[in-house]
Amino acid sequence: MSENKQCLPSYLNPDNPGPWAVFLEQVERVTPYLGELASLVETIKQPERSLIVNIPVRLDDGSIAQFEGYRVQHSLNCGPGKGGVRYHQDVTLSEVMALSAWMSVKTAVVGLPYGGAKGAIRFNPRDYSAAEVERITRRYIREISSVIGVEKDIPGPDVNTNAQTMAWMMDGYSAARGTDCPGIVTGKPIALGGSLGRVQATGRGVFIVGASAARDAGIDLNGARVCVQGFGNVGSTAARLFCELGARVIAVQDHTGTLYNPDGLPVNALIEYVQEHGGIAGKPNAEQISNEEFWALESEILIPAALDGQITRHNAGSIKTRIIVEGANGPTTPEADDILNANGITVVPDVLANAGGVTVSYFEWVQNRAGFYWSEEEINQRLEAIMDNAYTAVSATAAEHRVSLRTAAFITACTRILKVREARGLHP
Ligand code: NAD
Repeated sequence: MSENKQCLPSYLNPDNPGPWAVFLEQVERVTPYLGELASLVETIKQPERSLIVNIPVRLDDGSIAQFEGYRVQHSLNCGPGKGGVRYHQDVTLSEVMALSAWMSVKTAVVGLPYGGAKGAIRFNPRDYSAAEVERITRRYIREISSVIGVEKDIPGPDVNTNAQTMAWMMDGYSAARGTDCPGIVTGKPIALGGSLGRVQATGRGVFIVGASAARDAGIDLNGARVCVQGFGNVGSTAARLFCELGARVIAVQDHTGTLYNPDGLPVNALIEYVQEHGGIAGKPNAEQISNEEFWALESEILIPAALDGQITRHNAGSIKTRIIVEGANGPTTPEADDILNANGITVVPDVLANAGGVTVSYFEWVQNRAGFYWSEEEINQRLEAIMDNAYTAVSATAAEHRVSLRTAAFITACTRILKVREARGLHP
């Protein structure tokens, strides 16, 4: 069967159709490949459970403020829910629904025994003191405690939340139960049961699947040109690992600017520079180029590792690379995806490429439950095995149906989720 390239419904704005509409469209596209499981596909077109909570908190000045919080469990077919908690002033329920659905897809693509979930609080933590953010976090975890649990749903960090936030959540949840529950959240500080290797895991996963895709495309990594958008945790780790295999990182873009050097930028020095200066702008011995020039550079590998919605119908046509490895979540719009496919550019999709993070979160949870901790080397070996298996399975599905890796990843994930649904049956 050739790939179903239906246009998006006309009521959707192609540049910004909204995340939940994008997810539904992605499921529509793969339904023809699901065989008899297609009869169950409606079961993943709604989250299993969406919880909206009110979070009243006393502020430092004595006044009371209220915030809206969410925890959405899209699918619990394959195991407990897994997904981060985002703090953002613009977050909406429908966005959290989509993010939870993509977690179901991501955990199923790499074969973790998890479902998909996501949480959020609608506020900007930068507008509040650390003590206020701590009170908001503790009240939130208490409000959602009826639906989460070590074997029910395990939150983790996401945009504007970090290891400290996870420590407060773990402490608040444990205190309410009168017993330590380290496995209730992942992404904790190492001292509280966090996992070695978690910080680098997403970038390492991007590197592992990117290297496999390069091998399949006949690209020699030694001397290969790599461009990276976003030089934070994910982008800088992936850039460093590609360099270690002899690749040249010729361009890097972050929120402060874009640097270019056709002979390769000094990645380790750039990482140190960013730690000191907060961004890449001003780094000596590199040419500054514009945003448009960045997207049009010739390269073998392009890694978007910053924000969503970066590759659109406006710049997709000018991209001259062979492989795009999506470190960020949702960096490519569906329309841009079609343009890239038509131009023969391989896209390793986010649900596969950045799944290294949730994979090591899974390792953290396993270690917490066993009370036995692994070495970083062991963690990296296990991560590599899981990412390799997932890449191999998705590539085989892509070859079998002659579809893109994104469509293949969704076919792989939806098939896994719906097979479990079929075996469990519909209850009662
Ligand atoms: P980070 O905050 O460490 O780094 C983000 C980078 O993006 C920074 O270099 C920043 O300067 C850059 N950036 C921000 N706005 C930009 C703009 N307008 N143009 C160009 N660059 C810009 O974040 P991170 O943890 O590296 O995450 C990056 C992406 O990967 C996000 O989309 C995130 O959702 C996704 N992701 C991260 C993880 C993880 O474990 N960290 C897991 C899965 C997915």
